[in-house]
Amino acid sequence: ESFLNPRYTFENFIKGEGNQLARAAALAVADNPGQTSFNPLFIYGGVGLGKTHLMHAIGNKILEKDSNKKVIYLSSDAFTVEFVEAIQSDRVNEFSAFYKSMDTLIIDDIQFLVGKEKTLDLFFQIFNTLHQSGKQIVLSSDKPPKELKGLNERLISRFSWGLTADIQPPDFETRVAILKNKSESFGLELSNDIYEYIAHNITSNIRELEGCLIKLLATSSLNSKEIDFNLVKKIVKEVSTNKQVSISIDYITKVVCDYFKVDENKVREKNRKKEIVLARQIAMYLSKVLTKSSLKTIGLHFGGRDHSTVIHAYNTMELLIEKDGNVKEIIESLKNKIEMSAA
Ligand code: ADP
Ligand code: MG
Repeated sequence: ESFLNPRYTFENFIKGEGNQLARAAALAVADNPGQTSFNPLFIYGGVGLGKTHLMHAIGNKILEKDSNKKVIYLSSDAFTVEFVEAIQSDRVNEFSAFYKSMDTLIIDDIQFLVGKEKTLDLFFQIFNTLHQSGKQIVLSSDKPPKELKGLNERLISRFSWGLTADIQPPDFETRVAILKNKSESFGLELSNDIYEYIAHNITSNIRELEGCLIKLLATSSLNSKEIDFNLVKKIVKEVSTNKQVSISIDYITKVVCDYFKVDENKVREKNRKKEIVLARQIAMYLSKVLTKSSLKTIGLHFGGRDHSTVIHAYNTMELLIEKDGNVKEIIESLKNKIEMSAA
């Protein structure tokens, strides 16, 4: 029993700037376990960035090439629990011999070993035995070795014998690629707008990106092509632990002016041409709806008008939206566009 999850492979691990080094090192290790200078391979990074995925991918690939290899994956918690059980049943030697007999030992989240002195002592012995006989060790943690306060120096220095590779949060393009890839594997097909909206709003945790898709899948029994944008927004809000991204009045002004093909400066001045006035009123209205800015601040952005002008613009737009379906549609689409691009 290797405890490897066959779902986590290199094939479905999307490459991006943030994981490039860790992924390349993991591939090298999987191709030549124990034979590269990446021993141990120490992967660290924040929650949900792919550490566990990569570790399983290494194990899976090693076994794929040679099913006789002894590979084991476990979390440091599982390691501790088993060790305690071994102590209780007086089988510590057996426990230790078992891990020393591995060709590849993969232990996840070793930050949880901090402070567990007995477990660490035994882990140190196992580490030394394996390393001396050219067996591969792969470790992960939420922080780099030297920040694992409470681990003793000799262990920390051994961790840096091999390669320490970090994983950084994925950039926008990588997030979109991950979303598309996961959707495909779920049999879900969404529009680019939806992928981009999710990728703009969930930025630092790949598990949350995945969580969105799973919720969408669960909530919409419909044909995926008919997925309603409001549902997507609602789910993103629920799943995302990010604070709401802030939308600026300047950005709103830009989007509105692009749409109406009018000069941004004119909207910011006291120009009274009809199309300028409309663009300005819409920009004021959206600033009120989409930002937390005060009426005074909004007024200042549009030619130093006072708050009553902003209220007037807001009321005018509310009325127009109610009366005129076209206006309503335009406002909705501008709103979506602004919310989508805010990052
Ligand atoms: P960590 O161990 O760093 O907290 P995980 O490896 O558990 O993160 O990753 C969280 C989820 O995100 C998993 O379902 C994993 O498959 C997925 N994931 C992470 N990175 C990638 C990637 N580069 N490509 C595809 N899926 C990824
Ligand atoms: Mg993990």
